[in-house]
Amino acid sequence: MSNSYDIIIVPDPVLKQTAQPVSKVDAAVQKQMDKMLATMYEAPGIGLAANQVNLLNRVLVMDLARKDEGEAPTPICMANPEIIWESEELSVMQEGCLSIPQQYADVERPARVRVKYLNREGKQDELEADGLLSHCVQHEIDHLNGVLFVDYLSSLK
Ligand code: ZN
Repeated sequence: MSNSYDIIIVPDPVLKQTAQPVSKVDAAVQKQMDKMLATMYEAPGIGLAANQVNLLNRVLVMDLARKDEGEAPTPICMANPEIIWESEELSVMQEGCLSIPQQYADVERPARVRVKYLNREGKQDELEADGLLSHCVQHEIDHLNGVLFVDYLSSLK
């Protein structure tokens, strides 16, 4: 049995679908989170949403630690993430996506966000993010809503 998922890529229609909330973080969801983390580390990437592994529940994982530079892993697992506050200040950063190989582009988003979610233990938790983590969590939540970073670019082209 494989310890990781296959990552689906554009134009797979699952990437355009809306994922549904989990009723609770049970053993199956925890196992999914662990397997998604393994998939993300293997890719390698810094964030992965359920849609990208062909699952349509609201689960995402992230880890911004630079393992190639010897930093210890800092995995973040979220179920049912919800942005409860965002700054008026905006931030532009280059983004890429494991489901859109070889494409990178500057994306403008709120600079800081506060996110409410269920953690891997099923407890209500909050994350306040800025910089890369803020872009990453917004990018992954977009995935759960069927939105890709390239969807923001059409107006610029
Ligand atoms: Zn992505």
